[in-house]
Formats: sequence, structure tokens, C-alpha cells
Amino acid sequence: MIKFNSVRFKISVLYTAILGLILVVYSAFLYLSLHYTLYDELDNELNIKASEMAGTISSYLDVLGYSQESFIFAVRRVICLEGENPEQDKIHDLEELWFRMVDKFDLKEDHINFLNSKRQPIVCSGKGLIPFNIKPTQEDKTLFKTIRYEKRNLRLISLPVSFKGGDHYIIQIATSLKPVIHLLQLRLLHIVISIPIILLLASFFGRLFARRILDPVVEITKTASNITHEDLSTRVKAEHVDEEIKYLVDAFNDMISRLEESFKYIAEFSSHVAHELKTPLAIIKGETEVSMRKERNIEEYKRLNKVNLEEVERMLKIINDLLLLTRLDYRHEVLKFKRFDLVELLKDIYEQSKVLASQKDITVTLDISDDQCSINGERSHLRRLFFNLIDNAIKFTSKNGKIDITLKKRDRKTIVSISDTGIGIPDEDISKIFNRFYRVDRIDKNIEYGSGLGLSIVQSIVKMHHGDIHVTSQLNKGSSFIVTIPLSQQ
Ligand code: ADP
Repeated sequence: MIKFNSVRFKISVLYTAILGLILVVYSAFLYLSLHYTLYDELDNELNIKASEMAGTISSYLDVLGYSQESFIFAVRRVICLEGENPEQDKIHDLEELWFRMVDKFDLKEDHINFLNSKRQPIVCSGKGLIPFNIKPTQEDKTLFKTIRYEKRNLRLISLPVSFKGGDHYIIQIATSLKPVIHLLQLRLLHIVISIPIILLLASFFGRLFARRILDPVVEITKTASNITHEDLSTRVKAEHVDEEIKYLVDAFNDMISRLEESFKYIAEFSSHVAHELKTPLAIIKGETEVSMRKERNIEEYKRLNKVNLEEVERMLKIINDLLLLTRLDYRHEVLKFKRFDLVELLKDIYEQSKVLASQKDITVTLDISDDQCSINGERSHLRRLFFNLIDNAIKFTSKNGKIDITLKKRDRKTIVSISDTGIGIPDEDISKIFNRFYRVDRIDKNIEYGSGLGLSIVQSIVKMHHGDIHVTSQLNKGSSFIVTIPLSQQ
């Protein structure tokens, strides 16, 4: 059954229509050029005949000199192959030669008019006078015309001639167009029959090819309908397919691979979230159960409440961080960017960092090489970004350490680096520290662990500002986090 809205149908219709158009135009061109050539050849033939007739009459008159009788005889002899020779004795030697010349004209089938200067017929062939009147203005021109006479189509030449000693005359020869028309009709018939046959075959093979080309698409559809979130392992096979379809199959398989990765990531992420929330909940549950076993004094209840509050705060922080990450990564439209001076923000952060770092006797320095550094961004998010980095630097740097904050401009970008003299990050962990919930496993158990979301938030804020972040670190020597953000267009 034909499906009219299918690609296969549309391809075959389009292909057939284009081919049909090309065939019609090409056939019309061939037909018209044949028409022109045949008429041109016929006109040439008529021209030669009329010119030779005039030449033959002229040669007769050249020998005998012009006289009305000789002229009429020559014309009648040439046109009708009859008439009495008025100068028999004079031309005896030439007679045979001239007669032989005349006899070679094959004019039996043609209509011939020999008209005088007043356009009155002097001699007409046996086929009868052709009713063709030329206008006086056209008398001295060679004319070709197609006329209809006695239900026949004729091609006519009207050739003006003049003879030495004589007047101006017009020779008209009309010959049948039947062979030409027959040939043209035959060609037209061939065209009319062959075009529909060619189009039928073309549409049949077009559909066949379209089906062959689109087979892999059907295969993709089948595979796609078999894919569920439980099984994303199926792939479409791309053997023996055309290049473009191979691209489609590859793109489809790549998409499934990415989806598989995403599903795996979501599963891992959910288990991470569950695990992170499970620990504080287990602590709250345990502490509460222990306290309920027997009556406790007020101090013990206070301690229990403090532990529970800390765990609830930890959970709240994780949930808030996750909500922020979702907002940063998937809801860009709610962010309102404004132009502001990053130097001013960094000076502010520096002042607060000094207070935080002083608890561990860590020195914080600020080195700004430009007075002003205008960027387009979300002030509160950028504050969060730099605080997360400084917070980590303080957390992972031992007492009396040092943290350097620098800002410089380069190539329409602003570069902020936060370097510390802390414990550093092992090489194998550097590429993973921006992953959600990733924490570096340290031998020193006194190191305080966070949720592993801090650097994910940093990276999302940097991306949101079309910037870049990279890390260099050396174990037990320190780490540098370098953030690059484009300057605002003036
Ligand atoms: P957390 O909340 O655990 O600090 P982050 O995402 O902020 O999580 O950091 C991921 C890991 O990267 C941390 O567990 C830590 O081991 C490492 N890290 C981050 N910043 C530093 C730093 N300045 N020095 C050493 N290690 C760092």
C-alpha cells in the first residue's frame, strides 16, 4: 500500500517529477531542432531547384539570344518538358546537351509557377497554379512559405529572377511537406509513448532505491523502540550502509552511549546523595535511641540536642548545595548578570579571609595589578566561588601557612589565582576533584572532610560566567587554583 506521507513516496515522486521535466524539455528541444533542420534542408533543396531552373533557361537564351518564342519555349521545356523548339536548326549541336540538362530536373511532383513582372502566370506545371500572391514589396525577395493547397501541406519558394535582354520574373516552386510531417509525427509519437514508460520505470526503481536507502532508518526505529531505561546496551549495526546513513547511525549510537552514561551517573549520584544523608540520620537515630533507654540529666540532653543540630545542619548544607548546583547547571534563565568591579569584590573577600585564616595563624596576601576590573556576572555567586576556594585553602593548610590571592588582566580576560602552602593534591586525584561528592582519601585522619560538593559548585559558577578553572599542585608544598573570567565588553 502506498503511504502518501512517507519519505519513500516523496523521494520517488520528486525524483520522477524532476526526471519527467528534464525528459519533456529535452524531447521538446530535440523535436524543435529536428523540425528546424528538416525545413531548412527542404528550403535549401527548393532554392537549388529554382536557381538551377533559372540558370538553365538563362544558358538557353545565352546561346540563342533573347526572343519571346525562345524564352517561352525554354520555360515550357524546363517546367513541363514539352513545346516546339523555334530555333531547331541553330542549336542542333547544343540541343542534346541542353535537353539532357533539362531532363535531370525531377519536377513531376512539384507545383511550379513562372510569373511575369506583373505577377501574372506565364507557364504553370501540370499540377496546377498555386494560389500564392506575394505583396508588391516582397517581389525582389526570396520567400519561403508553408501553404495549404487542395488539402495538402506544401512548402513554397518564391525566387525573383531576370534574364539578359528580358524582363524580371518570379519562379515559384511548391513541394509536398508530407515526408517531413510524417517524420515529425513519428518522432512525436516516439516521445509521447516513451516518456510515460520511462517515468513509470523510474518511479518503480526510485521507490526500490528509496526503500533500500531507508532500510537502516527502519532498523534505527526498531532499535529505538526496544530501548528502555533498564536496558541501554542495544546499538544499531552500521555495516554495509551508505556514508550519510552511517553518520546517522553513529550519531544515534553515540546518543544512546551518552544516555547510558547519564543514567549511570544519575544512579551513582542518587546513591551518593542517599549515602551522604544516611550518615547524619544514622547518628541522630543512634543518639536519640541511646538517650531514650533511660532517664538522663539536663546536661546530657543538651549535648544530645547539640549533636543532632550539627547533623541536621550538615544535611541542610548538602541539600542547599545540591539545590544550588541544579540552579547553576540547568536554570540559567533565573540568573541576573550585572556589570561590576571584581577588584572591589576581591578586596572585600580578602578582608573576611584574613579574619577566618587568623584562627590558624595563616597569612593571607592580596596582589592586584590593576585598579579596576569590570566583569559581567552574578556578584553573590562569584563571592561563593572565591570563598569556597579560600575555605579549602584554609582547611588544607597547616598552622602558620600562607595564602596568596592575585588578580591580573590578560587578553581581555581577568585571571584570579588562589595559592596556598598546604598539603597539596595527589596527581591521580587532580582530574577528579571537581566531580560531585569526590573527596581525596588522606592518610592523616585529623583532616576535616566536607561533602565533596564545594569544587563542583566552583566549576559550575565558572562555566556560568563563560570562564575556565585549572589546578596545579604539589604534595606537601601547596596548590594553586587559577580562575579565568572574560572581561565585560565596554
Ligand atoms: P570538600 O567539601 O570535601 O572540601 P571540595 O569539592 O571542595 O570538597 O574538594 C574536593 C577535594 O579536593 C577535597 O576533598 C580535598 O581533598 C581536595 N582539595 C580541594 N582544595 C584543596 C586545597 N586547596 N588543597 C588540598 N586539597 C584540596
